[in-house]
Amino acid sequence: MTDFDVIIIGGGIAGASLGAEIAGKRRTLIVEAEDQCGYHATGRSAAFYLESYGGPEVAKLTRASGSFLSEPPADFSERGFLRVRGDVHLTRDELPELPPSVEVYPIERKELERLVPGVKPQWRRALFEPGCADIDVAALHGCFLRRFRHLGGRIETAAEVIRAERMGDSWTVFLANGSARTAPVLVNAAGAWADRVAVMAGAKPLRISPKRRTMVQLRVGRSGLKDLPLVDSADGSFYFKGEADNTVWLSPHDEIDSEPCDAAPEEVDVALAIQRFQEVVNWPIEAVERRWAGLRSFAPDRLPVYGFDSAVPGFFWCAGQGGFGIQTSPAAAMLAAALLLEEDLPPSLETIEPATYSPRRFDH
Ligand SMILES: Cc1cc2nc3c(=O)[nH]c(=O)nc-3n(C[C@H](O)[C@H](O)[C@H](O)COP(=O)(O)OP(=O)(O)OC[C@H]3O[C@@H](n4cnc5c(N)ncnc54)[C@H](O)[C@@H]3O)c2cc1C
Repeated sequence: MTDFDVIIIGGGIAGASLGAEIAGKRRTLIVEAEDQCGYHATGRSAAFYLESYGGPEVAKLTRASGSFLSEPPADFSERGFLRVRGDVHLTRDELPELPPSVEVYPIERKELERLVPGVKPQWRRALFEPGCADIDVAALHGCFLRRFRHLGGRIETAAEVIRAERMGDSWTVFLANGSARTAPVLVNAAGAWADRVAVMAGAKPLRISPKRRTMVQLRVGRSGLKDLPLVDSADGSFYFKGEADNTVWLSPHDEIDSEPCDAAPEEVDVALAIQRFQEVVNWPIEAVERRWAGLRSFAPDRLPVYGFDSAVPGFFWCAGQGGFGIQTSPAAAMLAAALLLEEDLPPSLETIEPATYSPRRFDH
């Protein structure tokens, strides 16, 4: 008899949401290397829900998560996790092409000035995406963990997995603290460390690459910004959104290859963010209040990976969530749970084709 039915490596949004889906049916353990779950990518996101982000196959998972995020089941959360603010996709020239399923409409200079007062003249047009919203990431992650525990799931923090061995029909997972846990199924929800965990378990890495992204909180000499739409450039060189009355969260949209690590911002990327921001609006910058960075981890085709490994028995991938892991988490967890439990997909996932996200797509 093994200690558990499933061991999930990683307590970020991916591990927590999948755990919450399966804990009622399988004895499940989440092992998290850090002292707290959510310390890495999950705790560092820009926290928005943007259906057009990531292309049509990511948009399907985002859209399928929308109603759960806005109106979750009452026993999951008494309130929704979204706060709508809309997104202005700015351009100097051509309007961007977005997945056709996403509701957007073009706006001209006058409306642009109303939505983003002080926008500089070279930004002539934009596409407006009304459905863009903030996500309360901490609350969402907390509710997944609470549901997981409520259904009998166990969480061990400060529990880095340093070795995993398949013996017969079960895995033995060895922790840095000297203990070991066993289960027939091992889930790789290790974020930036997904390939390292795969190698540890004897599986072929899928070339999931961590890429650093920088965020800056600026205080500016302009007020009334809290409800500002998300503003991004159609050429993917920056985005910012109002945070408090006179602060914004800003990113230079950087994507810098990195080893898996506790990512920190580089001065040059903070400077680049500010330079790009100053090309967009005429708001004086008063202070850099905060700066941080996190790793967004992408498979080679930039789609997430859900499913059992094709060669190593009992090794399940839940990785490569890139820059969309929060907004897709409810639907992605349902998809991953159905695949792991070998059940039919729920009706809310009728547009989803599991093969699109399977690790087997990399077999040839
Ligand atoms: C700056 C930034 C902005 C973003 N903005 C958005 C956004 O607006 N909307 C959105 O949807 N997404 C956004 N994302 C992406 C989103 O944050 C990620 O896709 C998501 O958090 C990934 O979750 P995860 O659980 O896979 O990874 P993580 O949260 O990194 O969790 C993986 C966990 O695995 C643990 N782990 C690794 N190896 C081991 C081991 N050997 N033993 C035990 N534990 C281990 C790690 O400690 C870590 O806690 C953003 C990301 C960044 C960095």
